[in-house]
Amino acid sequence: MQTNIMSVDLEDYYCDLPFSEWSKYESRVVENTSLILDLFAKHDVKATFFVVGYIAELFPELIKEIDRKGHEIASHSYAHIDIRKSTQEEFEKDLKKSLDTLENITTKKVIGFRAPYFSITKNSFWAIKILSKYLRYDSSIFPVRTPLYGVPNAPRFIYKPNIINPIVEDEKSNLSEIPLATHRIPIIGNIPIAGGFHLRFFPYSYIKYGLNKINKNNNSFIFYIHPKDLDPKMPRIKEYGWHYYHNLKGALKKFENILEDFKFVTAKEQLKL
Ligand SMILES: [Zn+2]
Repeated sequence: MQTNIMSVDLEDYYCDLPFSEWSKYESRVVENTSLILDLFAKHDVKATFFVVGYIAELFPELIKEIDRKGHEIASHSYAHIDIRKSTQEEFEKDLKKSLDTLENITTKKVIGFRAPYFSITKNSFWAIKILSKYLRYDSSIFPVRTPLYGVPNAPRFIYKPNIINPIVEDEKSNLSEIPLATHRIPIIGNIPIAGGFHLRFFPYSYIKYGLNKINKNNNSFIFYIHPKDLDPKMPRIKEYGWHYYHNLKGALKKFENILEDFKFVTAKEQLKL
């Protein structure tokens, strides 16, 4: 059976607000992540957790527990920054801070990264070169066209990106790119079926059909979930749009179906790193 990669963007529900406001909110990430860890244990799934450095600093025991249970710890930046709005210097500084924070907690080397908001797009491709200095893989490129993010012409499956023009393959590259799962429809384009909002929005049968199609062609996919995607009690935040709250109640059942119907390992294991 084809193995795929399961991932968690480990952040709290307030992490899409400006960093300066985070401390005003009560955390829910520990209990929501415990639920995810229980599901992974039940379905014998090992996953990669892309962790926001600030959250790791607040809850180091949670990170140690995830590591102890055999999952992989990777970076989701320190302060959940949008790379499209950062300078190269700001990004590199934030990245190093996140790596230091995570590596101090687990005493293991971090080798992977996912950009908050999938914010490695055409105008922030420079981030790939910086990532290649520190890491072995990235999972930030979403080969879709949406108003919020996406690189519609990027490859859809794991590849080695050229560090200057990362939508071009370059076998000599020391970095791998793991693009988020999509379903290709001719003429229309790629539909995101990688998790998060798309898991809550699309019927499960459609997601399953798309993911099965990927595996039938002997490709693997990467799926992702946020702890907040499974939290019907997520507090209302006025800055957040409807898509933050859509079908939070229905997500758990669909997520369990995913865990039941497909086989998952960590990114590190899938890439044999
Ligand atoms: Zn995030």
